[in-house]
Amino acid sequence: MAYKIAVLPGDGIGTEIIPEAVKILGVLGEVFNHDFVFAEALVGGAAIDETGVPLPEETLELCKISDAVLLGAVGGPKWDTLPVHLRPEGAALLGLRKGLGLYANLRPAILYPALTDASTLKRDVVEGVDIMVIRELTGGLYFGEKKRENIEGGQRAIDTMVYTTEEIVRIVRLGFETARKRGKRLCSVDKANILETSRLWRETVTELSKEYPDVELTHMYVDNAAMQLVRWPKQFDVMVTENMFGDILSDQASMLTGSIGMLPSASIGGKVAMYEPSHGSAPDIAGQNKANPIATILSAAMMLRYSFNLEKEAKLIEDAVVKVLDKGYRTGDIMESGKTLVGTTEMGALIGGELIQNVG
Ligand code: NAD
Repeated sequence: MAYKIAVLPGDGIGTEIIPEAVKILGVLGEVFNHDFVFAEALVGGAAIDETGVPLPEETLELCKISDAVLLGAVGGPKWDTLPVHLRPEGAALLGLRKGLGLYANLRPAILYPALTDASTLKRDVVEGVDIMVIRELTGGLYFGEKKRENIEGGQRAIDTMVYTTEEIVRIVRLGFETARKRGKRLCSVDKANILETSRLWRETVTELSKEYPDVELTHMYVDNAAMQLVRWPKQFDVMVTENMFGDILSDQASMLTGSIGMLPSASIGGKVAMYEPSHGSAPDIAGQNKANPIATILSAAMMLRYSFNLEKEAKLIEDAVVKVLDKGYRTGDIMESGKTLVGTTEMGALIGGELIQNVG
């Protein structure tokens, strides 16, 4: 069976980490006789430089006719001063999400035992953390009407936060379904003491919970959730929240695990899902073979699991990552004394080598 994968490396470390994930998929393809067909396209600043726009028509078209999308990261200082409609992060990422109908972002934050000491939190607080953060992706402040007005003494800027019952139901249902397959606990995060959108959110979640009596539901204000994530993260199983709260909390959850360089993500909802590391293009380390490719390699594992239903192959990648970490290999972001520092390509090769050994 052929699986068509659109590959969008993007900018900065995107062009270094994506090849490592593609190589891993190549190894699995050969071993298991899966025909992974890769087609690369431009996105982000790289696309602006070549075509003048951050999300060329051909790129979106390629994604739409593929079975899944593997994205690196977009953006960087070179394009930071462009007008909003040309900025890689806004136009390319939001354009892909909208164009592919991706309304849910799944970010697992799992602490690998070998990295317990890489976390900035105490061992007994983070040991065993395994949280799935589900973020709404196509509504809220990021997509509501924006405007600027000239007023006396300067300007007034307005962003609008909008949610409909339908948008809330589809993401929260995914939260309940995901919790049902895991630890059966769902924490819905909002700011219902202040925001009208949050009050609608909470009413809708409460109503929907009647269909899921087997899932224990809690509601939490976002400020408390931020605090609880560092106080006692093990209380969480699945968290579901709106777009901006999810953006912030999922980055915060990522640091429980030691580095954002470890965290994969899946954006789902439409026919074609998109997989990408949770981090950005890291211009500070780009082009130096320093980036941790594990988040991207684990994103490829999520692709095998969620888009292609290849659970065994996904697990093999995850196990290979654990083995390499257990053997003490580390990229700079997760480096500790007594461990072996490796670069991006070495880390990719080590995981690929482990994979081959495990299959053999
Ligand atoms: P970032 O995630 O790129 O980097 C934050 C810090 O984490 C940096 O110190 C970086 O070196 C480090 N880091 C990130 N990924 C790493 C990895 N794989 N290995 C080792 N270290 C890693 O966030 P930022 O600095 O706020 O943003 C940089 C650029 O990326 C900006 O242009 C931003 O808009 C863009 N961005 C893109 C995405 C995306 O494409 N999805 C997401 C976030 C930020």
